[in-house]
Amino acid sequence: MKKKELTDFEKHVIIDKGTEAPFTGEYCDLKGSGIYLCKQCGTPLYRSVNKFNSGCGWPSFDDEIEGTVRRTPDPDGRRTEITCANCGGHLGHVFDGEGFTPKNTRHCVNSVSLTFVPDENYDPDAAVVKHDPETAYFAGGCFWGVEHLMQQQEGVLSVESGYMGGTVENPTYEQVCAKNTGHAEVVKVTYDPDRVSYLTIAKLFFEIHDPTQAGGQGPDLGEQYRSEVFYTSLQQKATAERLIKMLRLKGYDVVTKVTPATTFWPAEEYHQDYYDRKGTQPYCHTYTKRFD
Ligand SMILES: [Zn+2]
Repeated sequence: MKKKELTDFEKHVIIDKGTEAPFTGEYCDLKGSGIYLCKQCGTPLYRSVNKFNSGCGWPSFDDEIEGTVRRTPDPDGRRTEITCANCGGHLGHVFDGEGFTPKNTRHCVNSVSLTFVPDENYDPDAAVVKHDPETAYFAGGCFWGVEHLMQQQEGVLSVESGYMGGTVENPTYEQVCAKNTGHAEVVKVTYDPDRVSYLTIAKLFFEIHDPTQAGGQGPDLGEQYRSEVFYTSLQQKATAERLIKMLRLKGYDVVTKVTPATTFWPAEEYHQDYYDRKGTQPYCHTYTKRFD
């Protein structure tokens, strides 16, 4: 990742999570049409159409460019810090429920954490930091169905069926089905984070299987068909937990476990692209909208 050399004051805010004094930042009252990039790494974070005047003394936005801003509760639990999802640079805090705009969200961002680029000067190819493909693992019942539906998501580069979460090295399908290795049937999703966010993929996961069914999925019963998110970063963990919380608030009794990823064992060749090769549709998975 290419990072800009920061001045002492930029370091104070972006690295040491400081705050610039209110009404002092250069973008506080800026109204021009354009895009706001992360000062440190150049990732586009906010669009001027989402900027509004909150009177608080810092640039305020009611939405971010999807997947580019990470939320982390402050240690005292009172506020939620926002950082650049790419480089971790501190931006400010986010507040919900204040009613400033219909989106009901205020990203309160230090000007010094941002670089504004007017529309006429914005070259997406030059400004966008290209990210390497990322990996996500989900267990949601028979991997044939999860794989089939995940493959249809824009930005997903490949989906592979396999096993994770057990105790035996290189397990076979028969061993996993015998239910004594502890593995779950999982899919390995490789995606382009510049085209699709983990949030979108994780939402899809919760909508193509039933996260409220314990001990199996649909007609497939057994712990190898359990619902589980295996995360590869703390950001993925936080996203999965946030989605589970959202579903619980909607009344879903979610049983999905959230666990650090361990070794992924690819399944036997005849399990890969099962439905594509058969030309049929999954018996065990369908899409059900659960998020707004
Ligand atoms: Zn950044």
